Amino acid sequence: MTALVHTRAELQPFLDGFANGKRGVVMTMGALHEGHLELFKQARHDCDLVVATIFVNPLQFGPNEDFDRYPRTLDDDLKLCAEAGVDVVYAPAVEEVYPGGQPIVKVTPGPMGETLEGAFRPGFFTGVLTIVNKLLNLTDPDKAFFGQKDAQQLALVRRMVLDLNMPVEIIGVPTVRDEDGLAKSSRNRYLSSEERATALTLSRALFAGQEKATEGADAVRDAANAVLERTTATGELTVDYLALVDPRDFSEVPPAFTGQAVLAVAARAGTTRLIDNLPLTLTPHGAR
Ligand code: AMP
Repeated sequence: MTALVHTRAELQPFLDGFANGKRGVVMTMGALHEGHLELFKQARHDCDLVVATIFVNPLQFGPNEDFDRYPRTLDDDLKLCAEAGVDVVYAPAVEEVYPGGQPIVKVTPGPMGETLEGAFRPGFFTGVLTIVNKLLNLTDPDKAFFGQKDAQQLALVRRMVLDLNMPVEIIGVPTVRDEDGLAKSSRNRYLSSEERATALTLSRALFAGQEKATEGADAVRDAANAVLERTTATGELTVDYLALVDPRDFSEVPPAFTGQAVLAVAARAGTTRLIDNLPLTLTPHGAR
């Protein structure tokens, strides 16, 4: 049985009940799918108490983004949480999370939050880090679980916890995909069947790039771009960026780079903006 609470006061007895156990939190915006389920499973495996938060955070949406139309499916979400063994869902009101109204003090990500997603969504990572900080304060977990699907977010959360000496362990969970490769996302439900077919280009480009990891950074970028270009040429897909970055700071890697990298893409199919990424290891290679 999963409990549903809306206030910090209602959540407190659950936290008190596991004061000496491991407490885990999974933060979500709802419209839950198998990707979220994987985070819940990992939390269930690692922790004695599993708290899921459901909160569509206004601070991380830009003025022309999809805050109003973001899917809100609380009844279905609760069923999925129950199946996954979540103990308690905390779905606070905006007034509880932002008691002073629009916050004056926020967490700023610095340069690592200004590339890729940060460049296309100004203020996005300030909104994300501020809400993650707030929800960590409100739920007080030992461990917090985040998806690799949002790789830049995961890296910034890790960096925030390190830089601000926050007493929580951050656990990254691999991306869950549909059988054909499309990364699960709450926004996939916006897609028509034609747009979904177009959206598959993102993961196909990433896998094509990954296959060239032994041939160096330029070969990876070329292979991924070649796949994207076929769909952008028809106007069905608009690519915001394709980038091969160093996961430590999300800067583009140079041609001779070896080691762990992240191949990341963001694109729009119709009015739906999707992101995806793959971790890969660039190995030493001969001159091209
Ligand atoms: P969201 O509800 O989209 O804010 O996502 C909540 C959490 O679920 C974030 O940590 C995401 O990275 C993670 N997540 C979203 N989609 C996936 C996926 N396909 N696989 C794994 N984790 C995911």
